[in-house]
Amino acid sequence: MMTNQDIFQRAQQTIPGGVNSPVRAFKSVGGTPRFITRAEGAHIWDIEGKQYIDYLGSWGPAIVGHAHPEVVKAVQDATLNGLSFGAPTEGEVVLAEKIAELLPSIEQVRLVSSGTEATMSAIRLARGFTGRKKIIKFEGCYHGHSDSLLVKAGSGLLTFGNPSSAGVPAEFVSHTIVLDYNDIDKVKKTFEEVGHDIACIIVEPIAGNMNLVKPVVGFLEGLRELCTAYGALLIFDEVMTGFRAGPKGVQGLTGIKPDLTTLAKVIGGGMPVGAFGGRKEIMQHIAPMGAVYQAGTLSGNPISVAAGLKTLEILSRPGFYEKLTSATEALITGLKEKAAKHHIAFSADSVGGMFGIYFRSSIPTRFAEVHESNITAFNTFFHAMLDEGVHLAPSAFEAGFVSACHDNEVLNKTFEA
Ligand code: PLP
Repeated sequence: MMTNQDIFQRAQQTIPGGVNSPVRAFKSVGGTPRFITRAEGAHIWDIEGKQYIDYLGSWGPAIVGHAHPEVVKAVQDATLNGLSFGAPTEGEVVLAEKIAELLPSIEQVRLVSSGTEATMSAIRLARGFTGRKKIIKFEGCYHGHSDSLLVKAGSGLLTFGNPSSAGVPAEFVSHTIVLDYNDIDKVKKTFEEVGHDIACIIVEPIAGNMNLVKPVVGFLEGLRELCTAYGALLIFDEVMTGFRAGPKGVQGLTGIKPDLTTLAKVIGGGMPVGAFGGRKEIMQHIAPMGAVYQAGTLSGNPISVAAGLKTLEILSRPGFYEKLTSATEALITGLKEKAAKHHIAFSADSVGGMFGIYFRSSIPTRFAEVHESNITAFNTFFHAMLDEGVHLAPSAFEAGFVSACHDNEVLNKTFEA
C-alpha cells in the first residue's frame, strides 16, 4: 500500500516544493502532508485509508460538501469545450447573470479561471480606468500567487515569503503601498500625500488570510469615502468571503458597495472559475469597447461553469446560510471541548461558513497581532486534531471552512471519540 510518505517523496522529485500548496502552511505545521484520494460530503480519505472530517474544503470551494451529487451530475452533463469565435458559452452568460443578480454592486462580470487572475485583472482594469499607477493593499491580505508582484521591498509581509518572491527587481513593484489592515488614519494620510496617483485599494473585506480578522467599525466605510473623494476604485477581494460570509458576501453584510469585486472558490464549486465585476461604466473599459485587454483560453469553459452554476443554485435554496452558520457555531463549541481535553484553550471568531482560531486571549484586528499569536500552539493543536480525524486548515494564518454537509450528526460523531 502506498503511504503518504511515499507520495510526498515522489512529489518532491518532480514538483518544486513537493506539495500543491501554500508553502507557508506546510512549512509551518510540518509533518507529512496527507494525500487525499477520496472526498465525499464532509469527509476526506487519505491514501492510507484514514478518514478525516474536513474543515479545509479544498481551501474553500467545497461549500456544499465534497462531490455533491448534483454538482457531479451537472459536470457530467456539460459539453467538453466547444468554444467558438471567443464568444461566451451559454453557461458563461447564465453564470455572469446569476452573479450580477446576487451581488448588487455588480452590473457586468468577466469570468476567468482563478482568484489570482480575478484580482490581477481587477487591478489592471482599475489602472486602465483611472489612468493612475499606485495601489494600496494591506499587510496580511492575500490576493493570489501574483500577490508577490504587489509586495513592496521591505514591507515585511511574511505570509508569502520575502520581497524577492516577486522574482522581479524592486522597481517593478514600487507602485504598491502596503499599509496596516484596520488603520484608516494611515490610509487617509497616504491619500493626502499621493491621492491623485492612487488607482485603487484592494482589500479582503474580512481577512480570511490572517486567520480571520474583521474590519473595525469605520475601516471599510473610511476606505469607501476616501476612494470616492479621490476618484480611486475600491476593490473588494471576496474570493474567500464571496457567498460564504453570507449570501451576498461582506458587501451584503456591511452594505458597503465596492467599485469592483473579485470572486473565485465557491463560484467554481471545485472547478477552476474566477470572476471580477462591477459597474458597467468601469467594466466597459475592457476591450474592444475600452483599452484593457482581457482574455483566457479556458475562461468560462462549460464544465467549470456548470459546477459553479449548480453550486450557486444549491446555496440559493432557503435555509442554506442558517444551516451553514449553525454548523460553524457547533464546530467551534465542539473543538473547544476537544481542545480542553488536551489542555489547550483558544479564542475563536466566525462569519457564515468561515472561522478563525487564535491562541491568544483576544481576537486580533491587525496582522502583527496574528503574527504574534502562538504558532507553536496552533501547530500542536493541528496535529492533535489530525490524529483524532479532524482536518483543519494547516496554517495559523488561514481561516477554516465549513460546508453545508457539516450537520450536527456528523459533528457529534466526530466529537464522540
Ligand atoms: N484572493 C483571496 C482573498 C484568496 O483567499 C485567494 C486564495 O486563497 C486568492 C485571491 C487567490 O485565488 P486562487 O488561489 O484561486 O488563485
